[in-house]
Amino acid sequence: MNQEARDKLVEAELAGVKQIKGNFSHSGGRCALGVLGFGLGNNNAKELMIKYGFIEHKLCKCPLLNTDLDTYSCSTRMTETQLVVHMNDDHSMSFLDIARKFPEPTNG
Ligand SMILES: [Zn+2]
Repeated sequence: MNQEARDKLVEAELAGVKQIKGNFSHSGGRCALGVLGFGLGNNNAKELMIKYGFIEHKLCKCPLLNTDLDTYSCSTRMTETQLVVHMNDDHSMSFLDIARKFPEPTNG
């Protein structure tokens, strides 16, 4: 996730976008990937991944793994888009927290 994506999430937080889980977009709300445009209209997921610096097949680790907020679904082997969904849905992290805590990718 590059700085542009982080900025977009912060912008959504400041604009008061309603944050939802389990869906890109629903009833005016959006999940973190939905804020970045995934799953909306005719956006191409591959183009969005390039635009926002998501590196396909690179795996990263949940920043809450082995903390007291660890959940059964925390892992060291999630792709970046999977991790965005995990932070949004499983940890209920705000757009701002996702923007601030999303790790740099590591070699899987
Ligand atoms: Zn986790």
